[in-house]
Amino acid sequence: MTKPRILIVEDETALSEIVRDYLLADGMDVDMLTEGTHAVGTALGMAHDLVILDLMLPGVDGLSICRELRKTSDVPIIMTTAKVEEIDRLLGLELGADDYVCKPYSPRELVARVRAVLRRRPAGATQGGGPLARLLIDTDRWRVSLDGKLLDLTPREFSLLNALAGRPGRVYSRDQLLALAFPDDTDVFDRTVDSHIRNLRRKIAAVSDWDPIRSVYGVGYAFED
Ligand code: CA
Repeated sequence: MTKPRILIVEDETALSEIVRDYLLADGMDVDMLTEGTHAVGTALGMAHDLVILDLMLPGVDGLSICRELRKTSDVPIIMTTAKVEEIDRLLGLELGADDYVCKPYSPRELVARVRAVLRRRPAGATQGGGPLARLLIDTDRWRVSLDGKLLDLTPREFSLLNALAGRPGRVYSRDQLLALAFPDDTDVFDRTVDSHIRNLRRKIAAVSDWDPIRSVYGVGYAFED
């Protein structure tokens, strides 16, 4: 079982550092953000297993982040707030957070709540680690993010990446990729696969030093297993 990876979005760094230390001591991995602007992209792109989200944040507030995350993700969210009377209001908004914790809280209690929320999730519901956790393909919106950064792909590049990533490790010939990625598109030929892959790699390289597409000499391509 991989370690749960927790994202703390909290502008009080003294507090979040204590929480981080408790989570680390409990065997979890932790990332921290001190303001809200990149919280959604980070949570989605890095596929965290749980987000501890403060309500009042510089940049984008916790309410908006929670709403935005819930549009595309069921990542467990624990909201924290400085006002106990806020919790009733938050519950009334039906944000879809998994738990609400009022400050000041004991870090030990928060870790227990994190554990409880993670336990409630059925096995396999968490996104876990591995290469696919870094790459998020949203087929409803035709959007791909890598490590939380959106890739600006053409429809053909999107289809190719989606086809490859659907079966990590499996090696596809160019013909197979054509049939899989462009079943209704007779204008794409096997050598154009190469140029689309080249462009895909260039766009991926612009945001990450990780190249998930493996060339298999004389055969075709595979998505890194
Ligand atoms: Ca705050």
